[in-house]
Amino acid sequence: MNPNILPHVVYVDPGQREWADSVLARIESSVGQLPEVKVLDDALPTVSMSEGKRAWILTEKKGHWIKKCPGTTNFVCCTYFILNLGEGCAFDCSYCYLQGYLNQPRIKLYGNISSCVQELDETFSNASDKLAYRVGTGEYMDSLALDPWLDQHRGLMSLFKQRPEHALEIKTKSHHVDHLLNLGPASNIIFSWSIAPPRQQQKYEKDTSTIEERLTAARRVLDHGFRVSFNLDPIIVDTEAELEGLRSFITELNRMFADVDQEIPFSMGTVRISQSLKDTMLDRWASEDIAYLFDEMMPQADGKMRYGFSRRAKLYATVLATVQKPFQPTLCMESKAMWEKVFGAHPKQLSAQNFFFSMKKTESSLSSK
Ligand code: SF4
Repeated sequence: MNPNILPHVVYVDPGQREWADSVLARIESSVGQLPEVKVLDDALPTVSMSEGKRAWILTEKKGHWIKKCPGTTNFVCCTYFILNLGEGCAFDCSYCYLQGYLNQPRIKLYGNISSCVQELDETFSNASDKLAYRVGTGEYMDSLALDPWLDQHRGLMSLFKQRPEHALEIKTKSHHVDHLLNLGPASNIIFSWSIAPPRQQQKYEKDTSTIEERLTAARRVLDHGFRVSFNLDPIIVDTEAELEGLRSFITELNRMFADVDQEIPFSMGTVRISQSLKDTMLDRWASEDIAYLFDEMMPQADGKMRYGFSRRAKLYATVLATVQKPFQPTLCMESKAMWEKVFGAHPKQLSAQNFFFSMKKTESSLSSK
């Protein structure tokens, strides 16, 4: 585990004191010392985003946990529900959308997970038996970066083991899986890794686990009876050498997972930057850390900048020409036109082939709470 991502200061909500004590004890046993601990009150000093990544707020989530993913305007949505176990990430990817999205720099983390498990259990009990929920915990944080210390996923995974008709997706750029392996097997729990050619990880994904560590963790998770998926996202390719690096990386992936006898969902998306994110990136990073930002990109229907249509299509075609079974490629946050260009069909027409679209009908009528 990477001790560099541990906090320098922890603010504790008195209502979560018991959970906070267990989190602090695990930190102390990892690194032999405690961070500074303060009682949470309204007067938090101003800190930069980088300082905020080493300041945790251990508190309680109020209100409902399960929300429908809002998707992205004019882009194809995969129907999905979000469980927000916290906000903010200890990793520091230069392209991270959270930089332009969250309104405070510290990492807010919720300890009342038993109420989350209870809400999910009730939701599942009240759902029609034709419905399957696909629920992910990695929307506003990395699911597993801090989980060895927070212990937020164990109770959720135990619930999903008893509810095999619903799926839990755990999204991460870490390799922190050891503490969860003994909960397997559970084929409805999917560990989902964001991956990239190793050089891209080194350049743009500060403090994250290396690609080798992630892929080794994925193998271990598979060996313990869970499912895995990969997100090749964001694809950042500026030069011929980087394109060749992408091909070699996928060839290596093919080799590492060739013996897996189940489908591995494999989504692809190219880099996308909103105007507010761009402004934050220019403030936070030296130009060599965000060289791709100065590449040619065009505004798209959702207001974000992406590579142009034909350049994106060419990148996806390169991946498709290289990736082999057991990977099942899809696109992430792309237009119907791009789906048709790359796959010759809209995703709904491909549904029978795709794990994510082929579970029982996902409840799309549940409104955001
Ligand atoms: S791991 Fe994900 S959430 Fe964390 S900084 Fe990177 S992109 Fe953002």
